[in-house]
Amino acid sequence: MRLLLVEDEPQMAEALSQALTQFDIIVDHAPTLEIARYAVSEQVHDAIVLDRQLPDGDGISLLTYLRSINLSIPVIVLTALGSVPDRVTGLDMGADDYLAKPFAVEELLARVRALLRRPSAIAPLIATLGKLEFNLDSREARVDGVALDLPRRELLVLEALIRRQGRTVLRSALEEAVYGFDDEIQSNALDSHVSRLRKKLSDAGADVEVHGIRGVGYLLRCLP
Ligand code: CA
Repeated sequence: MRLLLVEDEPQMAEALSQALTQFDIIVDHAPTLEIARYAVSEQVHDAIVLDRQLPDGDGISLLTYLRSINLSIPVIVLTALGSVPDRVTGLDMGADDYLAKPFAVEELLARVRALLRRPSAIAPLIATLGKLEFNLDSREARVDGVALDLPRRELLVLEALIRRQGRTVLRSALEEAVYGFDDEIQSNALDSHVSRLRKKLSDAGADVEVHGIRGVGYLLRCLP
């Protein structure tokens, strides 16, 4: 499993990363909210361990962000603020569990395992925009529940766009998502993938559009 650890204290982060790695958990470490937001848009995580007091804000705001991009990932909130009102805030905002510092690493591990055994936690990660659904585990796209038949590269373009829906994705980032190091990239190849993808989305009746910004990139948004 892959876990995102959002924690600004270097010693704490280091100790937790080491402990989790021993249990074959891949740990991505984000010391700030900004890096955490970037990490969830770049990588698929099975769970997030989230500190509250971060240099650029309250960790809780990441929960709102996850909801805004329709990602449901189990989250354990870590905090020195262990009082009852703070726990309630965290759980109300969509945290799945809450652990007050200081805690034993074993306890965190036990909670992570418990969370992943819950059926809700093993439900696939699905990003949605309008009638379009994209399963980030199986890389399957559906419109109104009907699977889209997309070749690999169009699927990768769609995945990169839906992960950052509403935001412009640079051409270079899309080319990186679609091509391996050994592939030769023709200058207009990306545009051809996008135009085929647009046609398939529109034929399927998706209420989204791939909007192009000349020379910059593309963004996926709902049709007005
Ligand atoms: Ca902190």
